Amino acid sequence: MKNFFKAIADFFASLFGKKTAPAPAPAPHPTSQNDRKPGEVEDSSDVPVDTIRTVPVRDVIPDAPGPFADEDKEDAVDGEETEPTTPGPSTPPTPTTPTPPTPTTPPLPPPPPPAPRFVWCLDNGHGKLQPGKRSPLFDDGTTRLFEYEFNRDVVEKIIKGLKKNGVKYFDVVPDFNEVGSFLEERVDRANKYKTDLPKIFVSVHSNAGPAVDGEWIADAIKGTETWYAQNSTKGKKLAAVFQKHLILKTGFKNRNLKSTAEKPLYVLEKTTMPAILTENGFYNNKLEVKELMKDSVRQKIADAHVEAILEIEKYGIV
Ligand SMILES: [Zn+2]
Repeated sequence: MKNFFKAIADFFASLFGKKTAPAPAPAPHPTSQNDRKPGEVEDSSDVPVDTIRTVPVRDVIPDAPGPFADEDKEDAVDGEETEPTTPGPSTPPTPTTPTPPTPTTPPLPPPPPPAPRFVWCLDNGHGKLQPGKRSPLFDDGTTRLFEYEFNRDVVEKIIKGLKKNGVKYFDVVPDFNEVGSFLEERVDRANKYKTDLPKIFVSVHSNAGPAVDGEWIADAIKGTETWYAQNSTKGKKLAAVFQKHLILKTGFKNRNLKSTAEKPLYVLEKTTMPAILTENGFYNNKLEVKELMKDSVRQKIADAHVEAILEIEKYGIV
């Protein structure tokens, strides 16, 4: 029906010589291709494996439940360094995080939502115009996953969850089609965003393992890891909370917390706020990418991010 009226309107417009104004062409984007400078490390797939340090979630959250109780340190890939821990059972581990007190009174009705504590700068890593960052083709010769699309979908789902819970956020890259790598601009926008609340930067990615000629990687290389800047205590604590929720919610393999001193990730290093980067599954693992293509799995990944954010909103960075 709408089209019918439009056709009539167009007809009369043509009679009187009035032309429908063409949609203005989008302004050319200043960075419409791969704008990453040499040496800038965009995500974990750019980090040489022998520079990576792995920290188990339980080293940061001693009482992390479920799968973290028997956290397997052999998860570190060959060549990765595991952060030295105090040796021997004679020295009991010192908890680094205060555990919340056990309630002794009967549970009360839920309190009103607290005032927002932070502004969450949500970064959906990579752009459509960026080369690479895509899975190999499936056997049908046409289907593949583009990382930018996965990251954007998850961030959009996170935003919906945050809106529902009254959490403050800043969508760092709402631009959809016209961006390339956009690395410096992502960081710039977050750094310049004006707010009275402290900011936290969360970059959402999916991982890629080293592959020969763009082929699929071995099935064994899979799972989720969360990155932080190695010199950032707050970043490490945030990373542990995100990793905990991601593993509990998705059931993906726990690849622990990662950092590197030699090849720091640009967005973690250059943002002027505590920052983390989640690597959710491997899109060049043929089995795992099928999971990453499911809306239900993406929703779980987004929900895990929201749960981590709500925990940090509730307790702060402790
Ligand atoms: Zn990425």
